[in-house]
Amino acid sequence: MEVFNSSSDIYQILTEAISEGIVVVNEKQIIVATNQSLNSLFGYKKDELVGKSLNTLIPEKYHHNHSSHFKSFMNESTKRQMGHGRDLYGLKKDGSTFPVEAGLNPFEIYGKRYVMALIIDITVRKEQELEIQELNTELEGKIAERTKALNESILKLQKEVEKRKQAENKIKESLRKERELSDLKTKFLSLVSHEFKTPLSGIFTSATLAGKYTKEEQQEKREKHIKTIQNKVKYLNNILDDFLSIERIESGKVNYKYSNFPISKVINEVIYGANMLLKEGQIINYPEGIDTIVISFDEKILELTLTNLVNNAIKYSSENTTIDIRVTEEGDQLIIEVEDEGMGIPAAEQKHIFNRYFRAENALLNQGTGIGLNIVQNHLENLDGTITFTSEENKGSTFKVTIPTMGNL
Ligand code: ADP
Repeated sequence: MEVFNSSSDIYQILTEAISEGIVVVNEKQIIVATNQSLNSLFGYKKDELVGKSLNTLIPEKYHHNHSSHFKSFMNESTKRQMGHGRDLYGLKKDGSTFPVEAGLNPFEIYGKRYVMALIIDITVRKEQELEIQELNTELEGKIAERTKALNESILKLQKEVEKRKQAENKIKESLRKERELSDLKTKFLSLVSHEFKTPLSGIFTSATLAGKYTKEEQQEKREKHIKTIQNKVKYLNNILDDFLSIERIESGKVNYKYSNFPISKVINEVIYGANMLLKEGQIINYPEGIDTIVISFDEKILELTLTNLVNNAIKYSSENTTIDIRVTEEGDQLIIEVEDEGMGIPAAEQKHIFNRYFRAENALLNQGTGIGLNIVQNHLENLDGTITFTSEENKGSTFKVTIPTMGNL
């Protein structure tokens, strides 16, 4: 073909001036022209490739694939880069292969179609890519290693922080206990000085007055004062007992003693003791139908519980009111309720009632320490019982104690 004749000046000038390898093939994939760069790239002499199949320049294993690509390319006839994500290789005359990049340019001359391929040797670029890839892999490895080491350090740090937190909590806890103990002591001292003062001066007055009644006919008056003294001493004794109870509950030194006893026995004792405290016109309604009830429980604790509730009912109610004690059995539970018509507990303060030392605003004019209900609740919890209440200010309160009756039977 005249136009590709290597002696054609234009062709010579155009192709030899280009540093990329140029190969022109016809429709049958026969090489019709090459330039000097292509010849030296593939190791051929001038014109040695002309007339040979394009496959001469392609490693054997790509022949088949290349052939089908070539045909569809010929049909589309648009200029484009070859390869599309695949690595392309060229085959040198000496049989060695090397990576190439190829740009394809179809064209038509005198009614015949040709393809001009521009070939670049990309061995160096590939090597660099590989190097970069290796570097990247190495870098990623290092990053992974560092991340692992960092994660381990973080884990260690977290553990250390956790340990320190635990240690801090322990210190805080013992500080809290220490503070509570010192609070207890302070409270005890202030309670003793406050709560003991009134009864002690009462005792002193009664004792002084009793001493003045020297005549025989004044025996009744003397007895009245002696009774007052006895009551007040009992009251002081109760406060001291409460403090001892707290100490024993706190240190876990309470030994509960189960025994079988009729519930009426405890109720009688409680009401007998409470009668001395009743205000003018106050009455206690004895529970009905309890004569046959025998339970197994800690008798002393039950007595302490009911004494507390009944004494509170008396203390926080005015004259001429009624206190109801009700006892019911429900399955293997015994329910004892103490209802009064007293001042009640303000709704906002009800949630604090079982807290140690807590006393409601409306109760502050009455003597008290705020310890009783706390102790009762602690004991009942230890014995699988419960204590709850409902109360309405200025209407009255109902305290409800539930205990298991089968305890140790
Ligand atoms: P104290 O009676 O010595 O103050 P308690 O622990 O027995 O201590 O009672 C705590 C608080 O609960 C009382 O100060 C009072 O405010 C309230 N409270 C207990 N029982 C009654 C009741 N029956 N009616 C009204 N308030 C009560």
